Amino acid sequence: MTLPGFPGDDAMARAMREAADLVRGRIDDLAAAGDQAALDRLEEAAQFEPMDFHMLRDRRALATAEGMRVISYGGGVQSTALVVLAAQGIIDFPVALFSNVGDDSEHPATLSYVRQVAIPWAAKHGVTIHELHRVRRDGTPETLWGRLMREESRSLPIPVRMPDTGAPGTRNCTADFKIRVIAKWLRQHGATAEHPATTAIGFSTDEFHRSSNRRTHDYEVPTYPLLDLGYSRSDCQRIIADAGLPVPPKSSCFFCPFHRPAAWAEMRRDEPDLFDRSVLLEDTLNRRREKLEKDPVYLTRFGRPLAEAITEAQPTLFGDDGPESCDEGYCWT
Ligand code: SF4
Repeated sequence: MTLPGFPGDDAMARAMREAADLVRGRIDDLAAAGDQAALDRLEEAAQFEPMDFHMLRDRRALATAEGMRVISYGGGVQSTALVVLAAQGIIDFPVALFSNVGDDSEHPATLSYVRQVAIPWAAKHGVTIHELHRVRRDGTPETLWGRLMREESRSLPIPVRMPDTGAPGTRNCTADFKIRVIAKWLRQHGATAEHPATTAIGFSTDEFHRSSNRRTHDYEVPTYPLLDLGYSRSDCQRIIADAGLPVPPKSSCFFCPFHRPAAWAEMRRDEPDLFDRSVLLEDTLNRRREKLEKDPVYLTRFGRPLAEAITEAQPTLFGDDGPESCDEGYCWT
């Protein structure tokens, strides 16, 4: 097993974990004994020890020995702010996990931002962003778009809108393509019920209500650093800009039924190819449902096809364009 954040062979990882345990144990003993002078001497000694000792004393190594600490990274504003805060040492998370639901499904601007901006910047600043993908039991990769468009597929994992109420239906996409993918990585890297990973979720103060709705597993403990620090979404934008990074676009699948109408209208105007692909998806789903004698479903709440429901109208006609609801903490942040 390779320790997260420490590329290297298994023996090295094990040795570092054992040594980190020893150092941590010694620090704990001194702290328990209230021996501040000894703690200071240990701190001082570390200044003159070989590089390996510095690495072991590095709080990343200590944190890893205590349990994994990872950021649930969605490529959006809030979770990018978490990466920046981790790089600045304000929060202690050496690793971020980005579960890519598919190059054919994520918004292309999000993928470009993650790969061309966030990953290289984070690496230079001591935070490793891992890009993860869903893999089937037979080892082949699966994307959300691929599952939706597969011929004869009966799977409807995205939260499509009901024709009468416009309410979103049940969804498995976040669980299948993000939660389980990240969970698998955490388990493969040693998270257990006894030693759960601490997962930082990018909910900001303007989304406080979402924090109570997130699913959890017994091998991870969610934590909400932006709420603890009192940061709103606009604070996050400032944190990212102050670090010299471009502010990322909203992150989500380009066809997500949680888009507000204004976002669809902007897509139709500015990204007609993505809009056309969303229309194709909706058509495909409904042709399939027609054969099964089922009611149609839609990507918007208007109870009619996307191309009819959304014009290139002024976005302001539709009001706010934030996500309407995605409370797992893995999409949109
Ligand atoms: S962005 Fe929307 S469609 Fe994509 S995984 Fe999240 S909830 Fe599902």
